[in-house]
Amino acid sequence: MSENLLPCAHCGGESKLSALQSIIDDRKIADRYYIVCLDCGVQTAMLATIENAIAAWNRRAVPQETETPSDK
Ligand SMILES: [Zn+2]
Repeated sequence: MSENLLPCAHCGGESKLSALQSIIDDRKIADRYYIVCLDCGVQTAMLATIENAIAAWNRRAVPQETETPSDK
């Protein structure tokens, strides 16, 4: 599975998709996905879907070099 994971925003290191599974009473009750940097260890929040985890990582991984003023 090759997802479009950007390199780490902090160190430029390799990022990896990881999953957290909670098993209680032999039942898998939760899947949480997150992206972690293999070099510096920074990671996203645990998110419910792979897509959300990748989106969160890529948002963070891309430094906003061109600051577009967002109207709030
Ligand atoms: Zn890093």
